[in-house]
Amino acid sequence: MSPPKKVEVDPEEQTVLREWRELVVEHYSADIARLEGMEDSVHGFHIEHRLIDEKPILRHIFHENPTRALELGFRIMREQFDAHNIPTRPVLRVIGLSDNYLNRVDELRMRDRNDLVSLDVKINDVSQPYGWLKMAKYQCRDCGSITEVRQRRARERESPFVCRTCLDKMFKENDREDLPLGLFHPTPNFTMLVEECNYEDVQDISMSQITYNKEHHLINCSTRNQILGTVADDLVDQIAVSKYLRVNGIVRVQPVPDRTFAKDTRRLLSIDIISVEELSITE
Ligand SMILES: [Zn+2]
Repeated sequence: MSPPKKVEVDPEEQTVLREWRELVVEHYSADIARLEGMEDSVHGFHIEHRLIDEKPILRHIFHENPTRALELGFRIMREQFDAHNIPTRPVLRVIGLSDNYLNRVDELRMRDRNDLVSLDVKINDVSQPYGWLKMAKYQCRDCGSITEVRQRRARERESPFVCRTCLDKMFKENDREDLPLGLFHPTPNFTMLVEECNYEDVQDISMSQITYNKEHHLINCSTRNQILGTVADDLVDQIAVSKYLRVNGIVRVQPVPDRTFAKDTRRLLSIDIISVEELSITE
């Protein structure tokens, strides 16, 4: 089996990792130390957005590519959890986003995909938790090497296009420039390692835009401006129907539910929820 490939991190990302580490060590070391001995499999860790705002490069990447910023932050949090012998998987839950992220459901457009937004909503409905295949592991039947393929929710399962190891081997053995490479494209021959695949528990949430006045008195709960969101990990089973919440998340474009996979090309907007904050609203 070949060793796992080293993931490339560019200089900007190195800086982001450094800024994440500074932030976590400076502000959250005591909180992490308090988690020692925890036996949960996953723990949502609250991070104040104003601390991210203090770091020039992290602030920028968190705004431009929140998904990547959170992946890098996870690495640092994992490292800090490991330093305290906490086996639990940390999930970064950024809260207290500045007001410029506050959007309304009816303002969201396809072009906002992958952007970070906050929405003030009332929860209409919460689905049963269900698992989806997040990462599938495949083993090459020819050479035994393992390939991981990140999957997308509500899409057909993707298998590897080609075995890197077999391809590299073939290039070495046929080191002749006059040979058409197409002839040596090995036929992928994989078996999925079902036991080693990663599944994630999620819940779909339906929510409605709300408006309220300065005294937090509800003015309107829109029946028209609704949107779906998805929560994972520690937020599963934590969201109750009829609650008023500020939902912070990343805008995604999803296939329409109940589609027959590839046949339906319609898309709708949804929110991958990264954190929720309770709103005290009076009706
Ligand atoms: Zn192979």
